[in-house]
Amino acid sequence: MKMAAVNPRTGERDYEFAAASAQDVADVAAALRRAQPEWLALGVQGRVAALSRWADAVAAHRLPIIAALAQDTGRWFLSETEVDGAVRNLRRWAALAPEMLGDDMRGPEKASALIPTVRYQNQSVPYPLSGFISPWNFPVTLSLIDAVPALAAGSAALIKPSEVTPRFVAPLLETLDAVPELKSVLAFVLGDGAVGQALIDQVDLVCFTGSVATGRKVAEAAARRFIPASLELGGKDPVVILESADLDQAVDAVLRGGLSNSGQACLSIERVYVQRAIHDAFLDKLADKASRLTLNWPDIHSGHLGPLIHAPQAGIIERQLKDAVAKGARVLTGGEIRTDGGGRWCPATVLADVTHDMEIMREETFGPVLPVMAFDTADEAVALANDTTFGLSGAVIAGTVEEALPVAERINAGGMSVNDCALTILTYEPEKNSFGLSGMGGSRMGPASINRFLRRKALIMQ
Ligand code: NAD
Repeated sequence: MKMAAVNPRTGERDYEFAAASAQDVADVAAALRRAQPEWLALGVQGRVAALSRWADAVAAHRLPIIAALAQDTGRWFLSETEVDGAVRNLRRWAALAPEMLGDDMRGPEKASALIPTVRYQNQSVPYPLSGFISPWNFPVTLSLIDAVPALAAGSAALIKPSEVTPRFVAPLLETLDAVPELKSVLAFVLGDGAVGQALIDQVDLVCFTGSVATGRKVAEAAARRFIPASLELGGKDPVVILESADLDQAVDAVLRGGLSNSGQACLSIERVYVQRAIHDAFLDKLADKASRLTLNWPDIHSGHLGPLIHAPQAGIIERQLKDAVAKGARVLTGGEIRTDGGGRWCPATVLADVTHDMEIMREETFGPVLPVMAFDTADEAVALANDTTFGLSGAVIAGTVEEALPVAERINAGGMSVNDCALTILTYEPEKNSFGLSGMGGSRMGPASINRFLRRKALIMQ
């Protein structure tokens, strides 16, 4: 079946691609399964050598991938960041996997403490075929973030990117020609949710990144097959700013944390709580700086904010803004969706006088909108930050780390940033779970996240 993708800068349906049928997905999965034993037999060193060569090939071929990704997403700078980040992710796992898995994927032989004549050993056995379903907001990063450690562990990888952003796949696949052993165990299938369901029917484990509503469908389908599902879902991330904070530092951190990728980031700051003594001064500075940020239209290399990648998101943002204003919120800057060039653009938007009765403080917005609310005590700030069904990440900003840390410890979220905003936890290093509706299924960060793709087998020797 033919599908078309919309260019977010122009609103035109200017890219056609073939969506996979359920039979296509089954055929691709069968081919990956046939190739996986040979990939596993390469050993950890052989696999990481292949991943390193792929990193070199992606780095050498980065421009066509960046150009396609920029067409998918309407922004250039972050497309460069994504592709260069994918290369770093490959190199990182090429270095980490041997450390984590050892040369032969076996632990040390041990004598049993219970039965003296028995020795035992653990072996790590990868799931033969792992599946990955990714969203449109960081198409390259989120298609590869989990697939790379899975491949390093010895699994084959089947990836379904979002139908909204399919263009990067063709130039990325060209880079696999340089690594034939990897090409036989890594495949992409294109299409919508039906293709996602067909993928779940074929794989031994699924990693899903996307919305809560779809995550629920993925978890249900995985449960029917008794396969593990790792879910990375939405958020409504808070930042708490205590009165000892440096005002300029706090304003800049909130702008970075809330507006990066035009707010289309799961880890975006979507609720801003400011201690009353500095609330008015903070709000003035935030609105002033936000009002000076520009769209990257007509020049993709200029400006600060790209278009809304998925046009229907504009409707969600408009609905939430309307609800907030009807309930008493004031728009200090932004607030109107623009249609320059045929795309959908949301200028940086700052709202004052918001309350938790408003949708904008409860539902994911996924746009460059910063609703600001005053609080009196740290206890009140913690209660407000925790008044959510999500728990992805958040931030606390104060004069010193020592003052902010105890507040961060009390906020129910998988990653807390202290004295900056949450995107810095994308350094990949610390482990991080998602709390509440933001996800389940083990950490995708940190070296131990490779264990999600392995089963532990006991070899017991008499
Ligand atoms: P989405 O849930 O609509 O789609 C995500 C993917 O799931 C797409 O590839 C889509 O085709 C596929 N899909 C749709 N229906 C399916 C079904 N029934 N079965 C299987 N797959 C199906 O999400 P989106 O709109 O593409 O992305 C935005 C959402 O992703 C936001 O909620 C955001 O917070 C979340 N997100 C989370 C993280 C994280 O790490 N926690 C990162 C980025 C984005």
